[in-house]
Amino acid sequence: MNKKTLEDFNLENKRVLVREDLNVPLDENQNITDDTRIRAVLPTINYLIDKGAKVIIVSHLGRPKGKANPKYSLVPVAKKLSELLKKEVTFAQNCIGEVAEKAAAKMKPKDVLLLENVRFHEGEEKNDPEFAKNLASLADVFINDAFGTSHRAHASTVGVAQFLPAGAGCLMQKEIEIMGNALEKPERPFVAILGGAKVGDKIGVIQNLLSKVDVLLIGGGMAYTFLKSQGHEIGQSLLEPDKIELAASLLKEARQKNVEILLPDDVVVTSKLEEGLPYETVSVTQIPKDKMGVDIGQKTRDKFADVIKDAKTVVWNGPMGVFEMKVYAEGTLAVASAMAKSKAVTIIGGGDSAAAVKQLGFAEAMTHISTGGGASLEFLEGRELPGVAALNDR
Ligand code: AMP
Repeated sequence: MNKKTLEDFNLENKRVLVREDLNVPLDENQNITDDTRIRAVLPTINYLIDKGAKVIIVSHLGRPKGKANPKYSLVPVAKKLSELLKKEVTFAQNCIGEVAEKAAAKMKPKDVLLLENVRFHEGEEKNDPEFAKNLASLADVFINDAFGTSHRAHASTVGVAQFLPAGAGCLMQKEIEIMGNALEKPERPFVAILGGAKVGDKIGVIQNLLSKVDVLLIGGGMAYTFLKSQGHEIGQSLLEPDKIELAASLLKEARQKNVEILLPDDVVVTSKLEEGLPYETVSVTQIPKDKMGVDIGQKTRDKFADVIKDAKTVVWNGPMGVFEMKVYAEGTLAVASAMAKSKAVTIIGGGDSAAAVKQLGFAEAMTHISTGGGASLEFLEGRELPGVAALNDR
């Protein structure tokens, strides 16, 4: 990576503003229901403590839309973080102004301070320079560790880097290096698996991957627009009519580039997305007019698993079917299981596929599960993320 990282800074006794993504899910009683994101920041925070820095953490939680709202307070996160660090974490009820300044001024080396939700201020999402300057005034160095928010040009991800020396934290570095290496110098065969609802959301990813991968496996709702472009009847399945031509041209481009695109041969169909209704597996040449495809069929699962078995690098984004319904999670399960068994570098590109892999119990078996949904999609599109671009070059 050509951006500065923790090792490039003298951190001893320095006030370090660390942007983390501590946007954890909370239940109605403000209990944290999944602390993965808090655990993910521990390496960076512990590194800074070890180096004798004064650690000032800034994060968002939810979408409070520029207004203070106790529902989105980071207080529960401070408690959990303190528990996991086995160390006191001080909390400042505002991320800028007197409250934050006083709390920061009191800090000693190795102290940890968590600032209240940065999205309680309108200036955050607007990337207001005045707000960014106020935030930056708390510190000597800026470390961005929030990969999951780095596709947003906000004050705490981009703005502050204008006012402070800026580098990447451990998590940010890991995300960029693992995904960057996979894209730039993959061990081959390099297989990408794309699924999920819409072709429209993934055009950029497909276009970028066509010049990098050996095989592209397409499942999920987006497969039906491709099948339609080949002249198949797809019944009531998900279709983006305005993307049919594009799907055809992507298939043509793949042939020209010698990239194999594999679409489903068989799919599971049903009449409506409701629990308890009958379903059956049919060939893609025989999808009934009144049915919709909701998962890849057994033949396709086996075909995809075979390709994954022989791969050396596998990147996956998007479920193979409506995996939220247990009966239609089999295709997604088959892909996750094939990846878990493989010796390849296996990367899950965040979002729904990350949720599926965790839910199905395969998380430990993967090389890397990205902590960013939108951010990892943009990364796979080959776009430079604003939060990364803003950091200082080596
Ligand atoms: P995305 O956010 O684009 O990755 O899409 C994820 C969503 O795609 C999930 O909620 C799945 O239920 C949905 N999905 C996957 N396959 C299908 C399908 N065949 N028909 C309708 N929705 C699907």
